[in-house]
Amino acid sequence: MQRLFDRQLEKSRTPSGEVDLDKLGELVVAAYEQAAHDRRRTDRSISLMVEELDQSNRKLEREIIDRTVDLRAREADLVTQNARFATAVNNMSQALLLMDASARMQMCNHRYIDMYGLTPEIARPGCTLKKLLEARIACGSWAGSPDEYVARALSLAEAGSPTSWFSELPDGRTVSILLHPLPGGGWVTTHEDVTERRGVEMRIAHMARHDGLTGLPNRDYLREQLATAIAALSPGRHLAVLYLDLDQFKSINDTLGHAVGDDLLKAVGERLRETAGDSNVVARLGGDEFVILATGLADRMEAVRLAERLCVAVRQPFDLDGSLLVTETSLGVSFAPDDAREPNDLLKHADMALYRAKAEGRGSYRLFEPEMDARVRARHAMEQALRDALHNGEFEMYYQPLLNLRDGKIKTCEALIRWNHPLWGQVSPSEFIPIAEEIGLIIPIGDWVVRQACAEAGLWPAGIKVAINLSPVQLRNPNLINVIVVAIAASGIQPERVEFEITETALMQNTAVALSALHSLRDLGVSISMDDFGTGYSSLSNLRRFPFDKIKIDRCFVAGLPGEAGSVAIVRAVVGLARSLHMVTTAEGVETAEQIEQVKVLGCTEVQGNLFSKPVPAIEIRRLLSAHITPMAKSA
Ligand code: C2E
Ligand code: MG
Ligand code: MG
Repeated sequence: MQRLFDRQLEKSRTPSGEVDLDKLGELVVAAYEQAAHDRRRTDRSISLMVEELDQSNRKLEREIIDRTVDLRAREADLVTQNARFATAVNNMSQALLLMDASARMQMCNHRYIDMYGLTPEIARPGCTLKKLLEARIACGSWAGSPDEYVARALSLAEAGSPTSWFSELPDGRTVSILLHPLPGGGWVTTHEDVTERRGVEMRIAHMARHDGLTGLPNRDYLREQLATAIAALSPGRHLAVLYLDLDQFKSINDTLGHAVGDDLLKAVGERLRETAGDSNVVARLGGDEFVILATGLADRMEAVRLAERLCVAVRQPFDLDGSLLVTETSLGVSFAPDDAREPNDLLKHADMALYRAKAEGRGSYRLFEPEMDARVRARHAMEQALRDALHNGEFEMYYQPLLNLRDGKIKTCEALIRWNHPLWGQVSPSEFIPIAEEIGLIIPIGDWVVRQACAEAGLWPAGIKVAINLSPVQLRNPNLINVIVVAIAASGIQPERVEFEITETALMQNTAVALSALHSLRDLGVSISMDDFGTGYSSLSNLRRFPFDKIKIDRCFVAGLPGEAGSVAIVRAVVGLARSLHMVTTAEGVETAEQIEQVKVLGCTEVQGNLFSKPVPAIEIRRLLSAHITPMAKSA
């Protein structure tokens, strides 16, 4: 201020150095005005600043109020969410346990506490897993080493991927546990009581691997066990598969009913188990087929002795609700590693041996031999070749005359099929007809025979009949009559010139169907013969069932003539029987002049046999017939 005044004083001095007071006064007033002006400006900016400050304070206050409301709302939301989460967690059907990275509990739900019989005082945040497990041991809901469990859980959590396992509790419950590692350490486990579900699953698994009737392992399970046993076979040790089925089980089932059959199978299963012992597996493959898997045999004789014991055991009568039932079993045995190392091969080989045991007399056992396999292969080869034979034109009909003993004339020729195989030569019908019957090929083959034989008879002199063999399988074929009608019509012969030969087995299987077919045939006007008489089980009752035109006495009885008293008596009795039933008799297989004489004396009507003529090709039978007829015709 002093300096300002000094400067004003200086400025108001005149050149002579005097102070011009007016000028000084002006300068001072001007300075005061300037100062007043400056103060006003400052005052204005201060009030502006205060106003701005006030405004921003108010804005801040508003914002704070807004944010507080928002935070309160969010807090309320969180509280609701937490409540919902707690409700959800506590209402889960599964138990839940959340652990931190140091194996301390962060939380668990009520279900966890209930499931393992814990208390909220123990199972609370901060409790170590080890303490939880010790508490579970104390209340009986766990057994094991807590330290090991904790170490395992920590390593699983560290491994980083979810893992599940079943925990079997000491009280019999099964709990399924799923462990999920959490990011940043720690893990969560869910625990589900699956006792019931596991029980059902185990029952289903048991059913899939066991036979429902006997409770024994089934085929699939046996194969598994067989594979395991073969893999575990130590050097020098053997393993045996004993394949068995009951002899005549089908007839027990048919005559006594399925309920008795089932009871018998159960009792047999039980007895096999007792006899085979706990170290061997007894399985049921289905029907009356059982397999015993005998492991760890030091030598093959052990299995042989077991097979013998099994045969003897099954032979002992079974007491089924007070009634005694007797049965027998045949057994086939194969060995690993000697016979095969594959479960299926071992079973197949044992089955082949069983087949042989049955064929060679029942109630016994056979060990597998490689030639059995060869035989089965040969059989398959024959089946295959048989399927091609018809369209390859490999079949041919031969004919064998039947001679009337009264006038020595040929009245009938029997049509007998021949199979000329390009490699095997001529195959006997006794060999291939049974196979053709089994695989159903007898139907097309039989139809072909009927057409051929009828057509051939159409070329013969009018009085000669043709005899055609019919298999039981053909008799059950509803189309048979059609085929015969068409064949007879096409050949131009009368139905009376056709004879059909059936064996006793045709009447034993499906009797009603067979009888109705025979009556339909008879209605056509053809005649019907009973072939191979005396070889079946119920020859006489078969004669009662159907009025046959002819009985062909089987060649096994003729072979015993003339010397064998038994054969003489049988032939005589059959001839007498046939005569009283108005049936003709043919003696089959006559090979000697003595036999011819004897059957003539015994009263047979006809003979058939190699003595007179073997079966011959069509061309030869025509020649034979014309030579045979011509002299007759001449003499007539
Ligand atoms: P089968 O019907 O009893 O025929 C008689 C069999 O005895 C024929 O055997 C015949 O050759 C043979 N035989 C005839 N006389 C003598 C003899 O003096 N001594 C001996 N040892 N045997 C004699 P084959 O031709 O081998 O036929 C065997 C069986 O095959 C026939 O027995 C018949 O059951 C069946 N068969 C043959 N051809 C056919 C056919 O076309 N259809 C059907 N379903 N079966 C047929
Ligand atoms: Mg015959
Ligand atoms: Mg015969």
